[in-house]
Amino acid sequence: MGLRPNLLTRRAAGVASTTLALLLSTATVGVVPAASAFSAAPGEVCAEPADVHSDARVKKGGIAEHEPNELTAAQVREREADLAIALRDRVNHRAGAQAASPLAAVTIPVVVHVIQRDATRAGGNIPDSMITSQITVLNQAYSGATGGAATAFSFQLSKINRVTNPAWYPIVQGSSAERQMKTSLREGGKNTLNVYLGELSDDLLGWATFPQRKLNSMDGVVVLSESLPGGTAANYNQGDTGTHEVGHWLNLYHTFQGGCSGTGDSVSDTPAEASPAFECPTGRDTCTTAGLDPITNFMDYTYDSCMYQFTAGQASRMLTAWNAYRAA
Ligand SMILES: [Zn+2]
Repeated sequence: MGLRPNLLTRRAAGVASTTLALLLSTATVGVVPAASAFSAAPGEVCAEPADVHSDARVKKGGIAEHEPNELTAAQVREREADLAIALRDRVNHRAGAQAASPLAAVTIPVVVHVIQRDATRAGGNIPDSMITSQITVLNQAYSGATGGAATAFSFQLSKINRVTNPAWYPIVQGSSAERQMKTSLREGGKNTLNVYLGELSDDLLGWATFPQRKLNSMDGVVVLSESLPGGTAANYNQGDTGTHEVGHWLNLYHTFQGGCSGTGDSVSDTPAEASPAFECPTGRDTCTTAGLDPITNFMDYTYDSCMYQFTAGQASRMLTAWNAYRAA
């Protein structure tokens, strides 16, 4: 069944009456810098990647629906090689200092930027209660309370920053306005989750950056404000766009990454699937390899009411990536 075992009461009834769907687009891939750039002596200037990996979720019918909808195999290879380098650098960095102890519990400070056109709800002025509900949804999802594996992560709201600026509304993925917005608003170090809420371009539900070794001002997640719990985005208004995008921010790929062949999403306990699943297609099985499609996984494209879990393998991958990229 597709409903979250423990959260049925907050799920709206009806999962088959919408025309909305979710898709993904990718930004261009930056050059992976040489490892030496990140073990430079103090005072040396580190090379900065030309761009930031990111991906998005869109509603069916949006312009972005027709764009490439997943990372290429080469992009995944680049990211996996970068993760290996980052892990090696962490080990080298810690050699001679105190023994490295992988973090087992991580509390992530969250800074939420509410981008508004004006003071109306239609202009992006959502109440604080939707934001605190979103934090609760994140904590339920990442603790395993909704039926999946427990992860190391919990989330603590540290600030709500309300910004009225029509030039940033809607937030347009990949635009100079997005860069200007993030450059001027982003707070904290690599461990701080910056969330940007607003109306989004091209029917997108959200997009996120993957972690990088050097903090980039674009780092963070952008989420459609009406996808928060209690919002107006039918079938996508229980907060799982936030859950999904934070998964990318913690280095998860989509469950359908790579289709039926190869290393897929680089997680061993998420069965391969040929393509994104939409709505809630119970029993879907698109690959001959073992296991039904992971349609209830937060990293697929199903309705919020259908997705309720991360796997143990995803939890492990996120913690490894945290220690490689985001831990102090
Ligand atoms: Zn995604």
